[in-house]
Amino acid sequence: MRVIPEADLSRLSGYGCPSRAETLAEVFSRDELIEALGRFSAQGSPVHIAGAGYNTLYGPSGVKGAVITLRGEFEEVKTEPSSIRAGAGASLGKILRVSARMGYSGLEFLAGIPGTAAGALVCNSGTAEKWIGGVLREAEVLREGRFLRIAAGDIPFSYRSSGFYPGDIITEAVFETVSGDPETVSRRISRLAEEKRKKHPAGGNCGCVFRNPENGKVSAGMLIRRSGLAGVSSGGARVSEKHCNFIVCRPGTPASDVWNLIKKIRVAVLESTGVELELELKLAGEGFD
Ligand SMILES: Cc1cc2nc3c(=O)[nH]c(=O)nc-3n(C[C@H](O)[C@H](O)[C@H](O)COP(=O)(O)OP(=O)(O)OC[C@H]3O[C@@H](n4cnc5c(N)ncnc54)[C@H](O)[C@@H]3O)c2cc1C
Repeated sequence: MRVIPEADLSRLSGYGCPSRAETLAEVFSRDELIEALGRFSAQGSPVHIAGAGYNTLYGPSGVKGAVITLRGEFEEVKTEPSSIRAGAGASLGKILRVSARMGYSGLEFLAGIPGTAAGALVCNSGTAEKWIGGVLREAEVLREGRFLRIAAGDIPFSYRSSGFYPGDIITEAVFETVSGDPETVSRRISRLAEEKRKKHPAGGNCGCVFRNPENGKVSAGMLIRRSGLAGVSSGGARVSEKHCNFIVCRPGTPASDVWNLIKKIRVAVLESTGVELELELKLAGEGFD
């Protein structure tokens, strides 16, 4: 286990905003995870589990307690006869590289989505047509001190939402795949990743900030554009002109700039369209007034 006091969290969020945690613990095995949780519980420290931070804004006033990241054995990816077994901290990119090399098809729609297996499961990440919950066979979670295996059918996935119990720590996931030709799988992944790259703005960002209203049927980006907010900024944070549901940040932008812009967008969209936008972005830590 690596424990870093007063840790800088800027590299743990897609926005790159400076923020600090009282403690950052990188755990490399299930035993270390249990040990870390025991240690922080004894200290009375709250715990936040971090993925790669591509859907998380850390608070302007930092994070009280500990942030834990899952490394080592949690980053492993293995193939099985009709599935891929991935540690919770494995990146979607690594999972796709293995699927392409081995000709395991079915996960290509995740191409171009940055993050970890667990972060994607919590957010039920995906496209308008497919989400990661739809290809999950089972997940392992640490719940109340015990590792449990949960079948995908027992996890109530819905549009950009999962339904793990509060406090569940996802440790592993098994994804359903079908056999395919490595070159075809690889070409499909490259094509889909390229299509996504073209749609996304450059600069520090965490993808879509708001959920598309009406369970994904109405585009939040379109509502933001119609409200005249394309290009509007708050300090170093700006509504992307290319994709209005993205906020892009200059390096070093304070988290408070992103938060103030989020509030500004919500007020303006409500006033001009009557729609109350809900966050897709996760907030962690303190200072969100
Ligand atoms: C350029 C860009 C494009 C994007 N495109 C898409 C897209 O097309 N579709 C889409 O759905 N999303 C998209 N996103 C958003 C983001 O990539 C996804 O939400 C991704 O799945 C987040 O994974 P993460 O590991 O970074 O999660 P994080 O932001 O680190 O975490 C997300 C949540 O999961 C929790 N969590 C993480 N690990 C665990 C664990 N082990 N146990 C319990 N809880 C955990 C965290 O506490 C947090 O609440 C995009 C983002 C960017 C920057």
